[in-house]
Formats: sequence, C-alpha cells, structure tokens
Amino acid sequence: MSIIAILLIIVSGWYAYSFKAYNASPEFFDGARAYEDIITQVQMGPRTPGSQGHAQIREWMRVELENAGWTVEVHESQRLGHPIYNIVAKRNAEPPQIILAAHYDTRFVADNDPDPAKQTEPVPGANDGASGVAVLLELARTLPDDTVPVWLVFFDAEDNGRVDGWDWILGSRAFAEEIRVQPEAVVIVDMIGDANLNIHYEKNSDPIIRAEIWSIAAQLLGMGMSLSPMKNTA
Ligand SMILES: [Zn+2]
Repeated sequence: MSIIAILLIIVSGWYAYSFKAYNASPEFFDGARAYEDIITQVQMGPRTPGSQGHAQIREWMRVELENAGWTVEVHESQRLGHPIYNIVAKRNAEPPQIILAAHYDTRFVADNDPDPAKQTEPVPGANDGASGVAVLLELARTLPDDTVPVWLVFFDAEDNGRVDGWDWILGSRAFAEEIRVQPEAVVIVDMIGDANLNIHYEKNSDPIIRAEIWSIAAQLLGMGMSLSPMKNTA
C-alpha cells in the first residue's frame, strides 16, 4: 500500500551518526512517546482527505511541531481536483540539505484486509500513516539544534491509488514539482510500526543512501536485524 518502509531507528541512527560531530547534547528518541502519538492519531478516526480527522491531524501536527521549536508552513496545491496540504517544518531559512518525510493521510478503503467485510471501510492507519508521522514528530523533539539544515515534511494525499478519481503519491509529486530545493538526501518513513516488522531494502531508493542507512542500522542493532531482499510492498 505504501511505497517506502524504513525503520525509525535506522533513520534517527543514521541521522545522528552522520552528524555526530555536531551532536553537542543529544536528546534520545523516546519510543513510548512516539507510540502515544500513534494512539492519538488513530483516535482521530480516519485521516482520509476531506475528513474531520484530516483537518484535526493537520492542526495537531502544527501545534506539536511549533512546541518543539519548528516553524510550520503549508504547501497548498491541487491534483486531480483535490486540494493538497503538505506540512513543512523548518528551523531556519536555509535550504534543506536533508528532508525527512512521511505521509499523514490515510486510505479510503482497506481493500487488502483479509476480512472481506472490512474491505470497503477506511484504513485506521496506525501503521500506514500514523507510524511515520510519529517518528517525524519525535525527531522534531529530539534532533540536535545545530545539524545541517533539515526539513520535516508531512505529505498529504499519498495513499489512494486504485480509488476512482485518485492516484498514489499526489502530495509528494506536487511537492517535488513545485518546491524548488535540491537536498542531498530525502528519507521517507512509512509503515514502520507493524506488530511483526520486517524492514526490506527499498527498491526505488538511491542505492548509496540506502546502503549507508542499512549499514549504520546494522551497527546500531548489533547485527540483529534481517537484511533481506525487497519484497513487493508497492
Ligand atoms: Zn502509506
């Protein structure tokens, strides 16, 4: 359902490792706090575009990000007749060297649910949506202040391919087409809260960045993680 799935510890570890020289007083990523953020999102109900939950999560993310010291901007656009609200968090006016991103919208239909009775219902989006947002919000609270310029981007309208009148990744495509920045790396997290989590090599990713992330993750996890070839997660 989602295109990219990378574990939170990989990203935060990779980030900290890449910039450890700047890391004066590290705050640690609090997994329990991130989990609370997943619960908060699921309690909003589906965050499908146009829904009450969709408006609620945007306001909630803005408050959380501003409380963590970030400036929040909304990249508004439109695709296939649908309004798009990508949320962009910055800490200074410099162009980003790194963009860390997730999507916050959820899917209109759980068409992959093994229970046919649920296949027309909206996806709750605990794993697919909320987990990535939770990672980004916890990073917003814990990333050192003096890193290279980084943006946190929360994409809208990503997850409704194969739905009439929609397509996949509308929000990120609008962002890439309309926001003129050239970061050195973009790392997207999604579906990283599965109860039986497997993190596979992501087949569409830049191979050098991917190898660096997996290598550092392996160091951090004491070689305990599975590094299996990519299965089809699209
Ligand atoms: Zn997704």
